Amino acid sequence: MLNPVGIYYAYWEKEWSADFIPYIKKVKNLGFDVLEINAGAIVDMTAKERAELASAAKENGVTLTYCIGLPGKYDVSSLDETTRKEGVRFVGKILDAMNEMGGKTLGGIIYATWPMVNVPDIDTKMRLREQSIVSLRELLKKAEQYDINYCLEVVNRFEQCILNCAEEGVAYAKELGSPKAKLLLDTFHMNIEEDSIGDAIRSAKGYVGHFHIGECNRKTPGTGRMPWNEIARALNDIDYKGAVVMEPFIRTGGQVGKDIKVFRDLSGNASPQHMDEMAKASAKFIKELQE
Ligand code: MN
Repeated sequence: MLNPVGIYYAYWEKEWSADFIPYIKKVKNLGFDVLEINAGAIVDMTAKERAELASAAKENGVTLTYCIGLPGKYDVSSLDETTRKEGVRFVGKILDAMNEMGGKTLGGIIYATWPMVNVPDIDTKMRLREQSIVSLRELLKKAEQYDINYCLEVVNRFEQCILNCAEEGVAYAKELGSPKAKLLLDTFHMNIEEDSIGDAIRSAKGYVGHFHIGECNRKTPGTGRMPWNEIARALNDIDYKGAVVMEPFIRTGGQVGKDIKVFRDLSGNASPQHMDEMAKASAKFIKELQE
């Protein structure tokens, strides 16, 4: 695969907050081109801290991508107008901070909240979707101004209700009608929801702005039964040139373990060194995939 290959920092962390700078050199040394970080964290940084992070990435030839599942208090699909507006304000700040850092890719559950705690009935789902569109029309103006791809992550039914499959994602992005309204497809979620992962990717041609990879149990790519050749072929078929970012989650504990629902150790009690070796082997596996 010729796409830039990345990894999400939370592979090594138990909490969502972290010092990202040490991860830049680390992932570069392990063979990655991209480090994905928590988009919410950059809002709380000072302008100086943001500049330092951006320049450390630049110096090491690592591209930063940004991801977040919006917490309930910033739910841009909320039926409560105060919450919805707070959400729009917060994501607006993320876009401002990303623009300052030269960021071009924002992905995640940036159209609703994650993880979804209150499961709605189907009528309520449609109202949430409508409110979400109201919020995004506003946010996409800013994304267009900054030339940032706003990548809506399509996730499985147990985590959100608005966009569960590529077909829903494409319809939603079309309705938004902005050149910056893109999709983030993720093999972990597609494995649960799609008839065919390859066909789902092909059906989203022109809309895929970012891509997440992981095995069915979120171990490092290349260690499970995900159809990697089919996935590589489909990405090639749609001429996808963006980043392919892995999100392995294999350790228990902390808020990360809780939100991701890691209820058993999937790392084989790996040492820090073994964690690095597994990431390195996975980057190599993805780069050597034949299309
Ligand atoms: Mn993902």
